[in-house]
Amino acid sequence: MKMEIPAAVADILEKLQANGFEAYAVGGCVRDALLGREPEDWDITTSALPQEVKKIFRRTIDTGIEHGTVTVMIDKTGYEVTTYRIDGDYEDSRHPKDITFTASLKEDLKRRDFTINAMAYNPQEGLVDIFGGQEDLEKGIIRCVGSARERFDEDALRILRAVRFAGQLGFEIEEETKQAIPEKAAALTRISAERIRVELDKLLVSSHPEKLLVASETDILKYVLPEYDVMLRTPQNNPHHIYSVGKHCMKALQCVNEYCLANEIDRKQRSVLSWVMLLHDAGKPEMKTTDFAGIDHFKGHAEVSAKLAHNILRRLKFDNQTISLVTRLIKWHDYRFTPEEKHMRRAANRIGVDIMDLLFIVETMDVRAQNPETWEAKLSIIQKAEEIYQEILKKQQCLNLKDLAVNGGDLMREGYQAGPKLGEILNYLLECVLENPEQNQKETLLRLTKEKFQ
Ligand code: ATP
Ligand code: MG
Repeated sequence: MKMEIPAAVADILEKLQANGFEAYAVGGCVRDALLGREPEDWDITTSALPQEVKKIFRRTIDTGIEHGTVTVMIDKTGYEVTTYRIDGDYEDSRHPKDITFTASLKEDLKRRDFTINAMAYNPQEGLVDIFGGQEDLEKGIIRCVGSARERFDEDALRILRAVRFAGQLGFEIEEETKQAIPEKAAALTRISAERIRVELDKLLVSSHPEKLLVASETDILKYVLPEYDVMLRTPQNNPHHIYSVGKHCMKALQCVNEYCLANEIDRKQRSVLSWVMLLHDAGKPEMKTTDFAGIDHFKGHAEVSAKLAHNILRRLKFDNQTISLVTRLIKWHDYRFTPEEKHMRRAANRIGVDIMDLLFIVETMDVRAQNPETWEAKLSIIQKAEEIYQEILKKQQCLNLKDLAVNGGDLMREGYQAGPKLGEILNYLLECVLENPEQNQKETLLRLTKEKFQ
């Protein structure tokens, strides 16, 4: 069989072979190329030792020499070239105690996690598929190479990777592999938060984030995201809703992912939006009350959700910017817009102009995951509110202190003393301008100041 590979990769393979070594593209890139997907990066596996690789190529970087990896630079792209290796005993559910280089491609493929990730290719020999990876790709199956129990014992992260690949590829986890998951899931507590974050994040932004439900069924979530398990166990008896809290949030997440795909939203924002949708109602279980008619209410849940999300994202070691964006959006996700200019200016001022665009998306997806009978009315309000907000932006109306036509310096030149009083005046003027944007002129504002404060 013949596979399209980039010229630079073909070049690296040829050079290694010309020097008497074996060399193949391997792993994720072979899998993706067979699926007709664009591989993120091309990894190469070779019988050459790192020092030998370094001798053959002009520009190399010692990425992980002790693990056998050298990055070969071709133009501005790096290609990881790794020596065939066998992982030694694993001591902490994650790190092999030692690794040994080997002359056997088969041994190298055997250490890899799933059959679909354990194929190698070069143009001379075609596909090397020892464990039935191609068949599993065709059947849409995630299956461990060898005994799933043993593979999960060696490295518990593979448990979460199985679900992540299921989400990215829309695959099912093969039965034996799936059965081993709940038996071994507890070892996930020994995996670093960063690694767990990476896998969860890739799953959430994937085309099948609902595979997170498989993570719940197989006991993974109780070790990595117990809050979401609680959400799944919280029904909502309320005319606005037709799903449990957890299912509702999952629907909202699926909606936002479709939206992101259709609108080419960048990776970072996709991540923010995904986590917002998944956790926007995380506080509902805690805040649930049931009235005399049996209807559930969740007053104050947005604030509590924001706090919980903050804790979760901190625990998963997200960067501060992501944590701040996600928690702010969750805090405001239930804000009811009044589609009038004045109200929208106040909303933008309170919520923050920097997150308004995202908030419209969040509120829309939240509605789309609620009772369809309520969509029309709710969506039309959000849409009108957004139109009005866009008008406000177009007219460049003042929404913040920094857009005010006077500043502290102007007031001091008028004889007002520096200090808290200045802040009070400026806030008063901002209130005036939010109410009447045409007042945002220096003369007018100074006159208003005199009228009020002298
Ligand atoms: P992606 O880059 O989309 O995350 P990938 O399959 O390339 O997918 P990487 O994490 O980049 O995944 O790893 C490259 C290859 O290394 C995998 O295809 C697999 O063969 C092997 N591999 C990675 N992590 C593990 C692991 N924890 N256990 C065993 N093999 C692994
Ligand atoms: Mg990769």
